[in-house]
Amino acid sequence: MRKNYLLTPGPTPLPPKVSEAMSRPIIHHRTPQFQEILKEATNGLKYIYQTQNDVFILASSGTGAMEAAVINLLSAGDTALVVHGGKFGERWTEICKAYGINAEIINVEWGKAVDPSEIQKRLKANPNIKAVFTTLCETSTAVTNDLEAIGKVVKDTPAVLVVDAISGLGAIDLKTDVWGCDVVVSGSQKGLMLPPGLGFISVSPKAWKLCEASKSPRYYFDLRKAKKAIEKTDTPFTPAVTLVIALIEALAMMKEDGLEKVFTRHKKMADATRAAVKALGLELFAPSAASDAVTAAKLPAGIDGEKLVKTMRDTYGITIAGGQDVLKGKVIRIAHMGFIEEFDIIAGISCLEKVLQQMGHKFSLGSGVKAAEEVFLK
Ligand SMILES: *Cc1c(COP(=O)(O)O)cnc(C)c1O
Repeated sequence: MRKNYLLTPGPTPLPPKVSEAMSRPIIHHRTPQFQEILKEATNGLKYIYQTQNDVFILASSGTGAMEAAVINLLSAGDTALVVHGGKFGERWTEICKAYGINAEIINVEWGKAVDPSEIQKRLKANPNIKAVFTTLCETSTAVTNDLEAIGKVVKDTPAVLVVDAISGLGAIDLKTDVWGCDVVVSGSQKGLMLPPGLGFISVSPKAWKLCEASKSPRYYFDLRKAKKAIEKTDTPFTPAVTLVIALIEALAMMKEDGLEKVFTRHKKMADATRAAVKALGLELFAPSAASDAVTAAKLPAGIDGEKLVKTMRDTYGITIAGGQDVLKGKVIRIAHMGFIEEFDIIAGISCLEKVLQQMGHKFSLGSGVKAAEEVFLK
């Protein structure tokens, strides 16, 4: 017998209500019944996105929504400004390159947030930049970028601001409209407490102008088709009916709590996790811009991160994430996004302690759990 815990930055655990919704008999999508569901899902997403812009639900993982953003906004030969600083920032550049779009890159040291004045400087230096591609939560380094400040510097330029909020949405505050985020992409399997399979994208009026003008090849992800369809409460292709039904359950849970409470809960989970890993003598990977969705901690020399993650998962059933790319084996990432509560964190930290102890790391057993509990008692 084994009880499994999922503390990874996607997929994240499913609330029982969400799982239950997906076991209902399938319904047809061209029906008034599904139209009601689609309307509720779209409105619920607008609430979570904090936007009046159009929001579309795509049958794809989050990266599909990223690709949709690139091809609908830009054409071959156009120039984009891309913020690197982790695996997912780099993904924007890879997609741009696939479509012949020039990417000007801002290289941010991994573990740091981008300096908004650097974006301002680059936009001033090159007025041909049509879009700025950024990440709300850079999941590979556990950094949150300051989108409010970035929004301010992009707002009064001709460029649109595009945000990868795949792991951030529903975990970290993102005021799409107030901060001027023209296009925000997200996915289902992170903060939104759903299985993988849905991508989301919001489009501002400023971004629609680019969508009309783009010459990039596009068919399935042509947002003009999606807009035409949604005006009749419809989708251009077969939607992922089951996942959309699950989505309205997840959105209802978030709405019942209210956004403020959702973000406060994430902050509390993050504070507890950060306090715990520090108490175990691990250093935070991103101390200056630590994300409330996921925590990355550096491992002491001599502790093999891949082995640590594997032992926690295969021996004790607790799955956390290791490092990606240059961080492979060097950091662990503990996610606290979505359907995660205090005792999930306690279980995760307790398991981390056990395996660290077995691997020879010196600390006082129970100190991580104690530090987390002290945060929860506050
Ligand atoms: C998970 C993630 C992605 C990739 O999403 P997929 O659903 O795997 O396509 C992209 N960006 C960020 C920030 C992520 O956390």
